[in-house]
Amino acid sequence: MTSTSAAAAVRATVHGYPRQGQHRELKKAIEGYWKGRVSADALRSTAAELRRGNWRQLAEAGITEVPTGDFSYYDHVLDTSVMVGAIPARHRAAVAADHSPSSRLRSSRGCPIDGYFAMARGTQEVAPLEMTKWFDTNYHYLVPELGTDTVFAADSAKQVGELTEAQELGLAARPVLVGPVSYLLLAKPAPGVAAGFDPLTLLDRLLPVYAEVLADLRAAGADWAQLDEPALVQDRSPAVLNAAARAYRDLGGLTDRPRLLIASYFDRLGEALPVLAKAPVDGLALDFTGAAAANLGDLAAVGGLPGKRLVAGVVNGRNVWINNFERSLATLGTLLGLADRVDVSSSCSLLHVPLDATAEREIDPQVARWLSFARQKTTEIVTLARGLAQGTDSIAAELTANRADLASRAESALTHDPAVRARAAAVTDADGRRSRPYAERSVAQRAHLGLPLLPTTTIGSFPQTAELRTARADLRAGRIGTAAYEERISAEIREVLAFQEKAGIDVLVHGEPERNDMVQYFAEQLTGYLATQHGWVQSYGTRYVRPPILAGDISRPEPMTVRWTRYAQSLTDRPVKGMLTGPVTMLAWSFVRDDQPLGDTARQVALALRDEVNDLENAGSSVIQVDEPALRETLPLRADGHAEYLAWATEAFRLTTGGVRPDTQIHTHMCYAEFGDILRAIDDLDADVISLEAARSHMQVAGELATAGYPREVGPGVYDIHSPRVPSVDEATALLRKGLDAIPAERLWVNPDCGLKTRGWPEVRAALENLVAAAREIRGGL
Ligand code: GLN
Ligand code: ZN
Repeated sequence: MTSTSAAAAVRATVHGYPRQGQHRELKKAIEGYWKGRVSADALRSTAAELRRGNWRQLAEAGITEVPTGDFSYYDHVLDTSVMVGAIPARHRAAVAADHSPSSRLRSSRGCPIDGYFAMARGTQEVAPLEMTKWFDTNYHYLVPELGTDTVFAADSAKQVGELTEAQELGLAARPVLVGPVSYLLLAKPAPGVAAGFDPLTLLDRLLPVYAEVLADLRAAGADWAQLDEPALVQDRSPAVLNAAARAYRDLGGLTDRPRLLIASYFDRLGEALPVLAKAPVDGLALDFTGAAAANLGDLAAVGGLPGKRLVAGVVNGRNVWINNFERSLATLGTLLGLADRVDVSSSCSLLHVPLDATAEREIDPQVARWLSFARQKTTEIVTLARGLAQGTDSIAAELTANRADLASRAESALTHDPAVRARAAAVTDADGRRSRPYAERSVAQRAHLGLPLLPTTTIGSFPQTAELRTARADLRAGRIGTAAYEERISAEIREVLAFQEKAGIDVLVHGEPERNDMVQYFAEQLTGYLATQHGWVQSYGTRYVRPPILAGDISRPEPMTVRWTRYAQSLTDRPVKGMLTGPVTMLAWSFVRDDQPLGDTARQVALALRDEVNDLENAGSSVIQVDEPALRETLPLRADGHAEYLAWATEAFRLTTGGVRPDTQIHTHMCYAEFGDILRAIDDLDADVISLEAARSHMQVAGELATAGYPREVGPGVYDIHSPRVPSVDEATALLRKGLDAIPAERLWVNPDCGLKTRGWPEVRAALENLVAAAREIRGGL
């Protein structure tokens, strides 16, 4: 199917690999180091062993060009800050404290590991860098802090060191770096720098530093270097596109450099594609999965990449499903006509998927065949590269097996439950609408609930104490039985209820002591979800999560929360809020199906949750909260995808909550205060009460909602639960007064910013008592 010269040129590669090791060795070594139990030398050699192990694994699977520099002790954006010398002023002392016992272990030449961890985690004296989500993934990076006085300086030691390690194994290696434009677009003004400061204005200062690093890599023998520019897949202004053009004209124009591959992923490049295609660089890596598949047509439209290398991301690097070989080969076949040389790759780093699906012995073997984690994905890439180079006959057996696995998935009872499908198909507009408009409901709810002005409540969880976590571990390990565990949970609920009554809170919660995690707890009880035993994915630093897998049609065999909610309600005359995780968040924090539109999956989850909401109402709950902290983070990266997403997302929420009586009060909760682009959608949820984060931004969100004409009840948080600080009565009162400037007393609630699970009891007690006192003080003056 292709000529032998083209065949010889096809390489198999990936953009990056999970860092943690099969048994999360990296997490254990780093946390051991923090506790003083692991020496700097031991940590360094564990890290080097893991890197070598990964490269060997990749090479043995047939990957012909391995990535280097993608390893990190914490985060690759932080590594980039170190590489360019962007150390915030407040961390410089820690970084300079070179005489620490660990001074021989460095994250790079100029940065001892303790200084590096100080930037990542803070110390007693200094706050860490801020952490935020890496595009629309659940990986968090440390936000670079830049200002007009930032002085960049090249430190290529980590990049060169890891390249050398891979070369010593005799492998063809390609260093992977965060590109300069994305680095600046991901940064924020340092504290004390005017908020209007645009980090991109530092581009001219940053490029010489990249030039130096590239020269060092060239000197160390790098044939290629990859610069990741995922920030260019978002809607970008002409000014940003010009900056990108200038950056790659400059870097491309260097004589002393490796060949440059500019990589993008997570969406299509759009208007940035012609810019990069024209740049004097040697190749592009593009994502051809999901929404990014539009890159194919766009690439043809710009006339392809004549004379350049194209690295084709046809294997989805952020989902867990097997590839469709026939479809990928068709894409690759088309691409062969568009570039000088086509290589096969993952769409993005495999950091976002677990390591090895074959470790999942508890998943039905038939279903396990549909799964592809990092190890399986590398094999898929190698197979596709061979198919592309040598023709499909060379992978006949793999193609047959792939077809069979895809067919088994398409025909399985798990993915096609006729009852679930029939019900989803029969959904009408009316199902997603409360029977009465908000204005009427609020009157009915006022009469039914009899709450005071400025009612007090919490967001759901109370402290998840060590004893609770131990009880859960004991239950799992069989050290205690179900009865003992449940008695432990009941006792906790009694304590949480007693405290709230005594403190004088108006709408109570049961405290969520039985929940390991707000998504996992429900996933474990819903048919169609899979749980993994070892499917760890890095969330940030040494924190790894095991996202459940939405594999099939979703149904709810039996009520999930009614029992504990009913128990809590039996202990008090005040209303106890039922507490559920909403459909959008159930998708956002799981691996989702790729064999049907997301909206279809959301609707199935919503119908299962709707039954739970209705059951709670029937069991006596008159207030039910459906949390949607992920509503905003799942917003597509490009604005032209927003409307469609928000349509199915809000429909799913309304379907979840639309079946209750007018006098049942529906609450929702979100953990952030920037609403600009979703204000309308929040109104479309048609919830009666929304609680949100507001303490740190001094109730700003209350004003924004008021300006936008938001007509419902609002609980802007007056207790910042991210900090151990206890707000004083005066502080809470002042915040509530600010809230009252924007929202009338009849519609203002008093609550913390978020759940209390990460806090300790003494702080929580004091803070909630102060909140109640503040509410009473204001009520007294109204
Ligand atoms: N009800 C949940 C809790 O209080 C909400 C958590 C969240 O918004 N992330 O823990
Ligand atoms: Zn929250």
